[in-house]
Parts: sequence; structure tokens; C-alpha cells
Amino acid sequence: MSKTLQARIRCPNCKNQFEATLYRSIWIEFPENRKLIFDDNINRVTCPACKMQTKLEFPFLCTNVKEHIAVWYEPYPDADVEKDAQLYARHHGPSSFYATAPRIRDWNAFKEKIVELEERTGVKLPSRLSPEMQEKMQGFMNHLKDNQAKKQQEKAKSRVGSAVGIFSSVINAVRGDKAKREMTVAHAEVVVTAYGAILESGPVPGTVADDSELPFPKETIKQALLLLLRTRSDPKLREHLKSGFILLADWQSGVGPVRLGVDFTKIDLTQDAMVLAKRHKADAEAAEKWLAVAKAEQEALVTELQALGLW
Ligand SMILES: [Zn+2]
Repeated sequence: MSKTLQARIRCPNCKNQFEATLYRSIWIEFPENRKLIFDDNINRVTCPACKMQTKLEFPFLCTNVKEHIAVWYEPYPDADVEKDAQLYARHHGPSSFYATAPRIRDWNAFKEKIVELEERTGVKLPSRLSPEMQEKMQGFMNHLKDNQAKKQQEKAKSRVGSAVGIFSSVINAVRGDKAKREMTVAHAEVVVTAYGAILESGPVPGTVADDSELPFPKETIKQALLLLLRTRSDPKLREHLKSGFILLADWQSGVGPVRLGVDFTKIDLTQDAMVLAKRHKADAEAAEKWLAVAKAEQEALVTELQALGLW
């Protein structure tokens, strides 16, 4: 279970004090939990008096037990994190993924680490993609990874090892909010990398999935892809970015939890052919409406890129 605790918060704006529930650990195998992190909404509290929102720089552990992923967000050195890490080493062994969980100070680096570990453990043969598309996505991901590695090195060089108390972190978070409205290239890379990872398990051609399965809001991914298209000149990468842009049409709002359409990778060949044929007909009919919506959007997305001179 994700662990929460009650904390007394002092609003940095109006000084009102209020109780809030903060995550100390969170299970990111649940998409809604993962989204909390990637939407920057985890441990974000709203002051009941002045309604101002503050994202608290509060240390927490995110885990995906099934994939053996654990990463700490530790914005300032925290004795309790150290204590927990030692406890995990005793309970699960010093080399367990719990005990060796990286402790990351920088928020964006924290998200990048999650994505990196997800890619490492979650890289299954993307059977849904054509070989051509597989190659494209692979190049795409490698390109972004190279870039992120470079950036990590730069960051490590410039990082000042000063201890930051929770209060000044809160202030920084509040200040940072203003700058956040305009997407940075670094943020766009995080978004596009997460999107690239999900493309590998995303809707099979001929099917449509609910847009809530996306790691970021569709519009955010769109803006991130456009930003990278505007700032990157590598022709191969640009092709990948364009493919990703158009594939966004395969996610639609209101589809619901079950993907619609005939997913040929999931056909159970042991079933009676007649039963199969009937089921697929029903699936295909239910999906028809959504496939039409997706196709129309795909055309609109191409037109949009052409209009922007990015095609
Ligand atoms: Zn307030």
C-alpha cells in the first residue's frame, strides 16, 4: 500500500496553518499514482484559506514492486530516508532493489530515473510495432537517453551540496511554479521519453485506447513533441518525433478502460474459430466509431504539422 501521513502545513502565502495528507511512499504500478508524480501533483496541497497551491518538497519513495523498481525523491538529506533504507536492507537484504533504491534530489532527475528504470525492466519485445516502427522508436529512445546522460553530467557538476530545509524548498517550489508554465526543453524530453516508453505497450494499430493511459495529458505530450521538433535538427530524430505526434491519435478521451478494436496480438488461437470470429465482429463494431475518430484526428495532426512547417 502507498503510505501517507498527516502533516501540519504553514501556508507560505497567508501563514494560515492547516492539516494535509502527504505521500511518504507511493505505488506507481497504479497508473493514477504514476500520473500524480508525472503531472507534478504529488504532495501538492491547497491552502483552505487563500486557495494557494504549494507543491511540498517532501521526501517519498516510489515503487513498482512487480518490476523491482524503487526510487527515493529526497530533496534534502533526510535522516528518516536513511533509517528506512537501513531497515529495507535488514528486511529484504542489502542488495534488494528496496535497499539499493537511488536517492534523487532533483525533481526532474527523479522522474527521469523512474522512466529509465521502467525502460530497463519493462523493455519487452514491442511485438505490436512493425519492424520499421520498432527501429524508429529504438533510435528515438537512444537519442533521448544520450541527451539525458549529457545533461545529468552537467547537472552533477553544477550541483551545490547545501542542505535545504523544508521551508526554503517550499518557497522555491512556489517560485518555480511561475517558470513552469512555459515548457522547457528538459521537461519536454522527460515527457517525450515517458511517451516513447508507453508507445511500446500502447494501442496496437487498429485499436484505440483511453487517453488516461498516457503518462502525461495528451496536450502536454503534443506541446513537448512540437517543442522538440522546433529545436532539433537531426533528421532521423525528427522523423521519430513526427511519428509519435501522429500516433497520439490512437489515444482518445472517453474510450474507457478496455481498448477497442481487434488486437491481433491477443487473439487466443485455442478458441473455437466461430466463437472468435463472432467476438471479433462485435469488437470491431464497437471500435468502429473510435477508429473513425482516431483516423480523423490523425489527419488533423498531419495537417497541423504541415501548417506549422514542421512536416
Ligand atoms: Zn494560504
